[in-house]
Amino acid sequence: MRSKIVAGNWKMNNDLSATETLITALKETIKDPQVEVMIAPTFTNLYSAFEALKDNKIEVIAQNMHFAENGAYTGEISADMLKSVGVKTVILGHSERRAYFAETDETLAKKVGAVLENGMRTIFCFGEELEDRKAEKHFEVVENQIKNALFGFDAEAFKSIVLAYEPVWAIGTGETASPEQAQEVHAFVRKVIADKYGDAVASEVSILYGGSVKPANAKEIFSKEDVDGGLIGGAALKAEDFNAIVEGL
Ligand code: PEP
Repeated sequence: MRSKIVAGNWKMNNDLSATETLITALKETIKDPQVEVMIAPTFTNLYSAFEALKDNKIEVIAQNMHFAENGAYTGEISADMLKSVGVKTVILGHSERRAYFAETDETLAKKVGAVLENGMRTIFCFGEELEDRKAEKHFEVVENQIKNALFGFDAEAFKSIVLAYEPVWAIGTGETASPEQAQEVHAFVRKVIADKYGDAVASEVSILYGGSVKPANAKEIFSKEDVDGGLIGGAALKAEDFNAIVEGL
């Protein structure tokens, strides 16, 4: 049985006090979740988030990580640094990282390698841009993103990889992929993985959907066979909305 997951990507939002306030609200709202729930605060607030969630099921995860062990990489953060505060899961390949920080499939393959070597797990994001979809190239684009970044690893690696399909045109735009569009890409990606690693591996990989998921549309998107949860941006910043999405899974 593959994991069902709802993860909130807080992006560059919430200072220390806002982080504490939102975590307090989440603890009051999300009681005994039946699925895995994760939040990704910014790096400076990871430690306090772990402290605040010590006896809680909500997992604190990171939004990014560098592939090097340490060294002259000003402004970057390593696996050891994240592990030292308790991080076990890292989001990689978010479209904002690809677009604004020039992360390529090649860089991402190195980052995934570092996550795996450090015994961590990744939520690996992929997804096409609007022009790709208009040109009906979305299958080709996502297939290449998955192959280039992930197919250098063995089947065992997929136990530590969660996928997140995030069509770029649906992120923070209010535009959502229809449940059918999400299902179609998720099923396609599962087949791409099955063709390389076999059905057993593919059927165990959780594939999340991300892109303007909100309380009003979560349940319908999550009802699709190959959608195993969501990666949530804007709606993860309000405890009630995030809880309603968690309950929709
Ligand atoms: C995201 O950035 O991962 C995301 C899905 O954002 P939003 O939910 O705001 O579209």
